[in-house]
Amino acid sequence: RDQLRDRLRIAIQKSGRLSEPALALLAAAGLSWQESRDKLFYYGESLPIDLLLVRDDDIPGLIADGVCDLGFVGRNVLVEQDYERQSRGEAPAFRELRGLGFGRCKLMFGIPDDWEWDPQAQLPGTRIATSYPALLSRWLAERNIEASVVTMSGSVELAPRLGQAELVCDLVSSGATLASNRLKPVEVVLDSEAVLAGPAGAIADARAGIAELLMRRLDGVLKLRD
Ligand code: ATP
Ligand code: ZN
Repeated sequence: RDQLRDRLRIAIQKSGRLSEPALALLAAAGLSWQESRDKLFYYGESLPIDLLLVRDDDIPGLIADGVCDLGFVGRNVLVEQDYERQSRGEAPAFRELRGLGFGRCKLMFGIPDDWEWDPQAQLPGTRIATSYPALLSRWLAERNIEASVVTMSGSVELAPRLGQAELVCDLVSSGATLASNRLKPVEVVLDSEAVLAGPAGAIADARAGIAELLMRRLDGVLKLRD
């Protein structure tokens, strides 16, 4: 299903934390575009590169299916979906090509304010609420800790107050959300930022050269930024 195409297609988040910085980075790399009426596609004008605007969670799958060649997505989402595929016995379908330096956050344990962090003693038998079950399960398995993973799609930090879990494993940037629910961040499971994701294998046909040009330009912009 790797259709022959002579334009590169990049998936970015339609609306959310990564949208503006992704578009700003692409503009700094010299892209300009025209929006489609329904804002699904942004058609590239200066280069043969089109943008597809989607939910961030859909980006790894779009790359896996060959619908998009590249994507801008949080490492947290990319690694979670990679581990999910691995646990189903599927071959790797996408990989991180570059860290992009924006959208920084950490996947961390959040425990009740009055707990001392001692995972080996504390975690067995507990319920841990998270939106990242594959990442959390791997962290637990690597340490031989048996705890229940409670998967939630949002508002994970409310789970302890609602009695659904004793602690959480959630994305943290300032820690304010955890603090307002009487939780404290204690251990980093994954250090995250937005990344440029691509297929596990090579990009085919004329798109390979366009992707290389884009990556050289992105590297140039990122170098000037730090
Ligand atoms: P979508 O509608 O696209 O599914 P979303 O609600 O999943 O949106 P956002 O909340 O916009 O997504 O977060 C997108 C990404 O921003 C996260 O996956 C993560 O990589 C990054 N991020 C940075 N800081 C935070 C934070 N404090 N909380 C959550 N995500 C953060
Ligand atoms: Zn999402």
